Amino acid sequence: METVKGTARYECRNCGFQHLKQLFKVNTSNEPVWFFKCPRCHLVCTDLQIDSLRLKKIYSREYFREYYIKNADLLLSYFKDEINEIEQVVANKGRLVDVGCGVGFFPKVAQGNGWECTGVEISEYACNYGRDNFRLNIYQNDLIDCKFSDKSFKVITFWDTLEHLADPVRTLREVNRILVNDGLLVIKTPNINNLGNRSHILLSKLTKRDYFHVETHIFHFTPKTLINMLERSGFKVTQTRMVNEPRDRSIPPDSSVKLKLWLLLLRLLFIIDNAIGTREAMICYFKKG
Ligand SMILES: [Zn+2]
Repeated sequence: METVKGTARYECRNCGFQHLKQLFKVNTSNEPVWFFKCPRCHLVCTDLQIDSLRLKKIYSREYFREYYIKNADLLLSYFKDEINEIEQVVANKGRLVDVGCGVGFFPKVAQGNGWECTGVEISEYACNYGRDNFRLNIYQNDLIDCKFSDKSFKVITFWDTLEHLADPVRTLREVNRILVNDGLLVIKTPNINNLGNRSHILLSKLTKRDYFHVETHIFHFTPKTLINMLERSGFKVTQTRMVNEPRDRSIPPDSSVKLKLWLLLLRLLFIIDNAIGTREAMICYFKKG
């Protein structure tokens, strides 16, 4: 996104409003990343540009090992709970596509529950991991370029994917086309109303290092801005759950004093966030509007 004197030169990728408000800059290991907020729909986005070369570099073996494979047991058990939640609201099993499926943990678990699963993933490493380890059918592509048939899926899931997309509204319109009429769309994404997440963004701003996905997340949602985007893309929300991320929260005993103090502060914010209901992420269920 090109910027001129505190405003973004072109329109909000959700509501079309021009002149986004410039918030602050984070100097990452690559180029500086600016955060913007739309004065009309309040959506927060950045000017992060990821070309295919950087895409390959970012979503590498190391990325998936660090965020996913290292925590395989935790994530597989987490997704087992989530497919059970989905089955509470979808009567009969059928075709399911997981968009941005990574190494395939969610489709593996859903397949085990009797769903006919497809994965969509841009990372070559992650696609091969899912195919080799779980025998999954994974398309290495953007969802739009997969060109699935109209109304071909009963359930479509985005687990921490939407915030990575350059044009999420375009992708959501495609989701609307390929979802059956009474189908379910499930979206999980971080909540930037969460004090812990806000502190990580602030830390990134102060230290000029990436502590909150500054180099991978283009959009930063609240429950309101997420639902607003989905409504604009032809969906209506049927359920919203505020949740915490499945992660190990213990303080490593060999941490420095500085790190221990930071982790203690985060623990305090975690308690406050849970008391006031601003958890780390949201999982929303949508139907076609
Ligand atoms: Zn807007």
